Amino acid sequence: MAQETRDPQLLLQQVFGYDQFRPHQREAIEQVLSGQDALVIMPTGGGKSLCYQIPALVREGVALVISPLIALMKDQVEALRANGINAHAINSTLDSGEKMQIHEEIGQGKVKLLYVSPEKVMTPAFLDYLTTLPLSLVAIDEAHCVSMWGNDFRPEYAQLSALVDLLPHVPVIALTATADPATQADIVKQLALRNASVFLGSFERENLHIEVQPATQRMARILRFLRDHPGEAGIIYCLSRKSTEQVAEQLRNEGYSAAHYHAKLDRQERDRVQEDFQRDNIRIICATIAFGMGIDKSNIRWIIHYNLPKNIESYYQEIGRAGRDGLPASTLLFAGFGDVMTYRMMIADSESPDEFKDVQIQKLDRMFSFSQATSCRTNAILGYFGESRSQPCGHCDRCDHPVTSFDGTRIAQIALSAIARVNQTVGLQLLVDILRGAANKEIREGGYDRVKTYGAGRSWSRDHWVQYVTQLIDRGLVSIDYTEYGHLKMTPIGEDVLYGRAPVSLTEPEGYKGKKKTETVRKETPRQAFRRELLVQLSLWRKQVADTEGISPTHVLSDATLEALVEDPALFPAQLEKIPGFSAHKRQRYGQDILRVIRSYCHGQDWRKTFKGATYLETLDYLRTGLSLEEVAQARGLGVETLYCHLAWLTEQGEDIPVDDYVSESLKTQIIDRWLALGQPEALNPVMQELPSGTGFGQIKLAIASWQRRQNVGMKMDERV
Ligand code: ADP
Ligand code: ZN
Repeated sequence: MAQETRDPQLLLQQVFGYDQFRPHQREAIEQVLSGQDALVIMPTGGGKSLCYQIPALVREGVALVISPLIALMKDQVEALRANGINAHAINSTLDSGEKMQIHEEIGQGKVKLLYVSPEKVMTPAFLDYLTTLPLSLVAIDEAHCVSMWGNDFRPEYAQLSALVDLLPHVPVIALTATADPATQADIVKQLALRNASVFLGSFERENLHIEVQPATQRMARILRFLRDHPGEAGIIYCLSRKSTEQVAEQLRNEGYSAAHYHAKLDRQERDRVQEDFQRDNIRIICATIAFGMGIDKSNIRWIIHYNLPKNIESYYQEIGRAGRDGLPASTLLFAGFGDVMTYRMMIADSESPDEFKDVQIQKLDRMFSFSQATSCRTNAILGYFGESRSQPCGHCDRCDHPVTSFDGTRIAQIALSAIARVNQTVGLQLLVDILRGAANKEIREGGYDRVKTYGAGRSWSRDHWVQYVTQLIDRGLVSIDYTEYGHLKMTPIGEDVLYGRAPVSLTEPEGYKGKKKTETVRKETPRQAFRRELLVQLSLWRKQVADTEGISPTHVLSDATLEALVEDPALFPAQLEKIPGFSAHKRQRYGQDILRVIRSYCHGQDWRKTFKGATYLETLDYLRTGLSLEEVAQARGLGVETLYCHLAWLTEQGEDIPVDDYVSESLKTQIIDRWLALGQPEALNPVMQELPSGTGFGQIKLAIASWQRRQNVGMKMDERV
């Protein structure tokens, strides 16, 4: 598409189809446009890409974007091309012919953005090549990979400061979603950014609902969760490869479209699963954390953590993959103590230096205590990233259902006394078996059925006990000895409670509650049903287009765009201009098709009374059958004058009306001359006075509408540079 403007605001509207910048975008863009370096820190989905994509369109030359993963590059390039921007990625999957083609386009100055991996950039040949290019800017995505403090250090990134050095006059913009202050400072240092301004957005993701549940009966809880999320795409993160396979299989048995993904699958298989997910062929992926880094699917509607993530950074990054389109998304974390033990062992067995192990353990402990927190989850995360605030977020389980505590001293004493009686030599599961009076082999062989507290906790369920004991651990009454098979030990605080010197409060265990329902479930109104079905139609259309073009459905149009299209059904071209994400390029490509889908769906409905523009559309339909204006007037039982008004309205809405068929060229000229001479008045009475008799308001309106439309098109031409 010919670029029409260099104004960032207009580019935002025309090329990307959005009305307003999000916080910090404009400032970061201006910084780069002024030729200076910048560090942009925003949560996943915050809109970092625009911060370099818009400057890339404004400045002369090609923007070099450094990105760590091929899939990520491919995705960005696809999204840019879908908006009519010429972007390419150079990577190992290209053959030499494709590479030549790209270099040729770059030579001709046709490419605005070029994505490259850090390894590729730092080869001597490529560095040489770079110095011959007119570079508009360098963007370094996932910039935390340069820092040892981040959770994803990549040695290739450490070399990039040499690149920054080599290009003294090219602005560098580094972008990351990793927030902690140590990493931030380190990025600036490691990349040797020059007088960089830092743009730090809030880390709150208001569209993410955060929920934590105990890791018991996970499958049943997952099935309940999925019932609340029919047809939506989501990821279930598991710690082990085996659980990814098992969970996926169980879900398939329940009739869900699910696949597994882990590092042991061969490359082709992994690519296929990822592609199928991206293209909406598979709805649910059960994956290890190997999945997701390179995926930019904007309509992931939920994330479940089957196991506890190893730290809050990873957790927030993983749930951050949901709802990148800004629409509501749900997250569910299963928190169990077993996982903490597993990680502890993994950390202990690793080859890392002790100093590093300590950091990992501390981070793990913070993660677990987050999972046990009794107040706002979002605030706990924000606090971890150094953003403190006290007002509740309103989008987490703790805000939905504040916990109620009760005096748990007696319950605690039962558990503590059992721990004492077995000389602190059992782990959580066995302790619960003892309390519940279970009759299994381990109990018999260990002689635990002869312990005095055997069966003392029968009146509470297993689930209850697991959660109560976990709370005792969390409150510091019991600790876990990782060096001794995870046996539970009583702490001095625990002793105080056991001997009645101090009370303790506990909270009731929770089942899966789902999001707070603000209103009781009401029957769907006809209007809601209409919208829901229209959305299905549009999704089907989108899938078809995506398959034909070989791109992701969300790159055709995002979920947010589809929702806006059905909210107030768009029936005319001008309405599409107001739909977020429906860029000029996409309007040109898909506008007519979309209107056809919406109109044909509307035709079968009793929609005419409900939606604006319906009567005009009916007139248009009649005219398209070849009837004259008079015949249409008769068929519809309306005056001809009214129909002229309809035509004027349709013209204003961007419909191509052959105005000359209805108002002669000379009459049109007279009308416009008169109207302009009067200073373009709203009221048309004075315009009519000097026109040939018989000229009606409708014709006048039509002539003006057609003139204004031409003016508008002309104005857009003037914006071209
Ligand atoms: P990040 O790289 O920070 O994770 P992206 O750049 O991928 O996030 O943006 C996330 C989503 O938000 C994309 O779908 C993008 O098109 C959309 N987006 C970005 N900026 C805006 C904006 N100003 N208004 C509306 N949507 C936006
Ligand atoms: Zn909250």
